[in-house]
Amino acid sequence: MTTRQKVQIALFWSLIFFLALFLARTNTLNRATGLGQAINYLPLVLIVALFVLVITIDRSIKSGGRSKTVVTRSGIGYDLHRLSEGRKLMIGGIEVPFDKGSLGHSDGDVLAHALCDALLGAAGLGDIGTHFSDTDAKWKGVSSLLFLEHTRKLIDERHLRINHLDAVVICERPKLGPHFPAMRDALARSLGIAAGQLNLKAKTNEGTGEIGRGEAIAAQAIATLEG
Ligand code: MG
Repeated sequence: MTTRQKVQIALFWSLIFFLALFLARTNTLNRATGLGQAINYLPLVLIVALFVLVITIDRSIKSGGRSKTVVTRSGIGYDLHRLSEGRKLMIGGIEVPFDKGSLGHSDGDVLAHALCDALLGAAGLGDIGTHFSDTDAKWKGVSSLLFLEHTRKLIDERHLRINHLDAVVICERPKLGPHFPAMRDALARSLGIAAGQLNLKAKTNEGTGEIGRGEAIAAQAIATLEG
């Protein structure tokens, strides 16, 4: 029901109220309905009804005069990091045993970064560099799960809710499938969602390019928010 319709109803009931008040005062209703003195309470009942209606309209106007509608928003994310010896390979918030690791200002978690960008994009909040600059010493060497926790707070502040996340990690080695359950648990915990709301996939690059040569790792993600 629109605000205009509610105002029209309010006017209608106001007219009924004043008409009933007038009739009651002249005792016309007493004779017409046979309710006797009970009819004297009719104005009071109508006053209460009118009060409730006015409060309802007031709340409707404050909320913009529209019924609450759930809107679905989507965002994509992509990230790539070079792989180098002497670094830990952090993917999805956990350390994956490997002879190389991601180079990066933080822990180089390519999956967390792609998810972060997807979430920020869906929320209309820019990108990961806007919030976690790779020139800020504050983020040097930190776990990328912190980025996701902060992103979740930003999403909460905008009264949005994470519906679903899907991501693919692209690397030639190591095999990631066995690590997905632990990654999903770590990521879901940071985002305050159920692990079932996060899907992970792995691909190789068929031996081509820098990913195929084992020199880099990449991730793509899509986030769906509601609010
Ligand atoms: Mg990155």
